[in-house]
Amino acid sequence: MKVERADLLVVGSGPGGAMTAVVAAEAGRDVLVVEEGAHWPLRSAPSFSLAEMDQKYRNGGLNVTFGGTSITYLEGRCVGGGSEINAALYHRPLASTLADWRDRTDIADFEPDSLVPHFEAVERDCEVHMLPQGNGPASALLQRGAGAMGWSTKEIARFWSYEGEGPRAGLLDGRRSMSVTLVPRASRAGARLSPDTRVIRLLRNGRRVSGALVERTDSEGRPERVTIEARDVFVCAGAVQTPRLLRRSGFTHNVGDTLQLHPMIRVTARFREEMNDPAWGVPTEQVDEFKPALTLGCSYSSVPHLALWMGAELGNKRAQLRDWKRTGIFYVAAVGTGVGKIRDLPLLNEPLVRLPLTSADLARLGEGLLRLGQLLFAAGAVELSNPVEGGKAIRTVADLEALAKALPQGKMAVSTIHLFSSVPMGRNEALTATDSYGRVHGTENLYVNDASLFPASPAVNPQGTVLALARRNVQRWVG
Ligand SMILES: Cc1cc2nc3c(=O)[nH]c(=O)nc-3n(C[C@H](O)[C@H](O)[C@H](O)COP(=O)(O)OP(=O)(O)OC[C@H]3O[C@@H](n4cnc5c(N)ncnc54)[C@H](O)[C@@H]3O)c2cc1C
Repeated sequence: MKVERADLLVVGSGPGGAMTAVVAAEAGRDVLVVEEGAHWPLRSAPSFSLAEMDQKYRNGGLNVTFGGTSITYLEGRCVGGGSEINAALYHRPLASTLADWRDRTDIADFEPDSLVPHFEAVERDCEVHMLPQGNGPASALLQRGAGAMGWSTKEIARFWSYEGEGPRAGLLDGRRSMSVTLVPRASRAGARLSPDTRVIRLLRNGRRVSGALVERTDSEGRPERVTIEARDVFVCAGAVQTPRLLRRSGFTHNVGDTLQLHPMIRVTARFREEMNDPAWGVPTEQVDEFKPALTLGCSYSSVPHLALWMGAELGNKRAQLRDWKRTGIFYVAAVGTGVGKIRDLPLLNEPLVRLPLTSADLARLGEGLLRLGQLLFAAGAVELSNPVEGGKAIRTVADLEALAKALPQGKMAVSTIHLFSSVPMGRNEALTATDSYGRVHGTENLYVNDASLFPASPAVNPQGTVLALARRNVQRWVG
């Protein structure tokens, strides 16, 4: 079998892997990044299109957890990982959240203030910006409804460049994902990138890992297996695939036993006025009032996405879709309380993910749905879709009150795009799988550096925290 070598092998090129590669390569290390997905140009397909799902999503977006209610989860599988397909919303988590993480698993050197320089570097290097002017009709509507309820809203910054002339410059094509920021920067510093290359398992040798067995496509399109020998290995394959790969390779202590996520429900809302203008891109306003437990906002509402979230109960979908300019998709995202397990299934390509949607989650989502409905009706909505399978369209707040009190287990369309905490970090070995900098307990040279490390929910969109934490950890390794 062919053998290749690197000082540092990085598995995965999403935010965690891209940041790991940049810092290590710029410090002069010989870095090889292997990525299961393909290297698509940023504009290889229109954002949020079915073609994009086909190219850049794991399994075209069809992944589900098992439990009382199945939760559909989405992940990127391409160079840049989730950053290529996400809404690019950026937050720093609250200092109280970071302090809670530090105390929960006893993380060393983790004062919330010590992370500030890392967030500042992320904001600079990955080009985090606010809209230069205006905020689009869907955001304005959210503000209007929240204002009528006496609630606060806030514009969320994005990994985005709004360069150019005019009020709509860059709104659709200014994404600053890993494939246009950190990945090319790592390459300029000498890192090698191998797309279409999947790590099958890590090669374990007692307390050390000697490298990995990978499968990739050769120059004639045939699958080939290659051994990659490395002095150190960073696994940054995301919150589901990282624990799966570790478990498959024999590392199981607290690995894949504590997956957490932000469960979301979405409704479509129809208004009398036109409020859906895709030229504005992703609406950036969120309702601030119920954070951190609950976030309310508006999604990008293209016709294919409307078709996906519009309940069948709204009658003739085709006629409804003709009215797409008056219809938008709105969401409730909660900090989930369920803790899930990820298990590798030897003969299958995907792991088994089990996670309960708890009664506390249902109550929280119900409360969020009620708040969202109150806001939308206050803003002039005439009809909301019903997130419960077979449920009738919602036309009044009274309809919603009854529904929100008792969301039924097993009959809800629940999804998530934020997964984390499956390989938690910290000094408390009874609770964690890695030390305070991502080194897997009991090993000398195996590290994790992605969303899996979070001891608990960040209570905000996670990509900014993945990047800042990854920078902190790999700087330590370099040092
Ligand atoms: C639709 C969507 C919208 C989102 N919106 C936002 C948002 O607005 N703001 C925000 O902050 N977050 C958002 N997120 C979440 C954010 O994208 C993730 O938190 C982030 O990408 C996690 O980074 P990561 O490095 O941990 O993993 P990932 O981004 O998942 O990267 C892991 C990479 O590893 C690769 N890989 C996996 N297994 C292997 C293997 N065996 N061998 C080789 N490579 C492998 C994968 O293909 C993938 O490219 C969104 C996510 C999605 C899916």
